[in-house]
Amino acid sequence: MSADDDAFREQVRTWLAEHLSSEWAHVRGAGGSGAGEEMREERFAWNRHLAEHGWTCLGWPEKYGGRGLSLTQQAIFHEEYARADGPELTNHLGENLLGPTLIEFGTDGQKDRFLPGIRTADELWCQGYSEPGAGSDLAAVSTRAVLEGDEWVVDGQKVWTSWAQDSDWIFVIARTEPGSKRHHGLSFLLVPMDQDGIEVRPIQQITGGNEFNEVFFSSARTPAEMIVGEPGDGWKVAMALLGFERGVSVLGQQVGFERELNDLIELARENGALDDPVLRDRLAAQSAEFEVMRVNAVRSLTEATPGADNVAKLVWAGWHKRLGELAMEVLGAGSLTAQGAEYDLDRWQNLFLFSRADTLYGGSDEIQRNILAERVLGLPKEARG
Ligand SMILES: Cc1cc2nc3c(=O)[nH]c(=O)nc-3n(C[C@H](O)[C@H](O)[C@H](O)COP(=O)(O)OP(=O)(O)OC[C@H]3O[C@@H](n4cnc5c(N)ncnc54)[C@H](O)[C@@H]3O)c2cc1C
Repeated sequence: MSADDDAFREQVRTWLAEHLSSEWAHVRGAGGSGAGEEMREERFAWNRHLAEHGWTCLGWPEKYGGRGLSLTQQAIFHEEYARADGPELTNHLGENLLGPTLIEFGTDGQKDRFLPGIRTADELWCQGYSEPGAGSDLAAVSTRAVLEGDEWVVDGQKVWTSWAQDSDWIFVIARTEPGSKRHHGLSFLLVPMDQDGIEVRPIQQITGGNEFNEVFFSSARTPAEMIVGEPGDGWKVAMALLGFERGVSVLGQQVGFERELNDLIELARENGALDDPVLRDRLAAQSAEFEVMRVNAVRSLTEATPGADNVAKLVWAGWHKRLGELAMEVLGAGSLTAQGAEYDLDRWQNLFLFSRADTLYGGSDEIQRNILAERVLGLPKEARG
């Protein structure tokens, strides 16, 4: 770390200490695994407050309203943000996925129209990739779009669409060449959510929340110029967007994990679970694994290793899921009954239930292993029907 980096860390720390007190103290720690619906409106406002003070889109080039910061400084921001107990951010899809994709592939008109609203966190986005018949096998999408005059007309269904209920726009992979197969003939479209042709139906999760949804398109419309890349370029653009998924916010995630781990050890100390030699052993192993994960995440900032992103996703998802399971054992029989107010689940029950999804979204464990096997280790490709 350079002297500049140290000064930057101090600046971030001071700003967060000042701004997460008094007026914004109530949002500290809100959101997170299984608690995405907590204080949503307040967190939108907090995200806009961050934007007003230049703390969003830190890695975007300055000419697009970003700060053009180095990877190290972005990581420092996320570390300090997690340490200060900053609430879960609400603009991940716009800021970290669609924004960089538009910067790389968008027209000047698309950049001018959308980047400012993403930067200020005034316009929210959701991701329309998965369908009932297309999850891991994304090339099987069947939602279709046809150009009629100066508009695309979209029909079909997406599923598991996180936060569609709050979003102003959705980016959609749709089949625009009738009769095309697999990853050919797809296009990447930007579609406004507020229209009669779109219906959002919430899906209730096991935690009781409705974070994700089904989204139905029945002759939904978007202007002809709302295509990113050329017709048929959809697969290329969609995959590039997934490449931005990891980003440096992973380091902030690690600090969040560390807090969960430390809080769980504290709980075990308080309720006597730490006296159980087996649980003690497992908590120690969980701590050791955390340290390996942390060192790897820091190393990935300076060293590009093939497959590092896939390894990181595999490792953190499994680790976090095991942390949830361990929390249930630390709680013992108490984990079986509602602990929160009005029969709500408590933090640990939410973590246990929600972390079941960690090994699925962002590419399941099996898909990560397939990628590592085929693209990194050069093993024979799996048979595909
Ligand atoms: C919390 C959460 C939020 C999400 N948010 C969004 C969102 O906002 N937008 C969006 O588009 N999608 C979203 N998703 C969907 C997510 O991308 C998919 O769940 C994921 O891609 C897996 O697809 P699937 O659910 O259809 O499962 P499937 O692809 O049907 O997989 C089922 C099981 O089969 C295994 N499997 C599949 N193919 C293979 C293979 N070739 N080899 C070995 N095993 C295989 C998988 O690993 C998995 O265990 C979200 C999912 C979750 C859980």
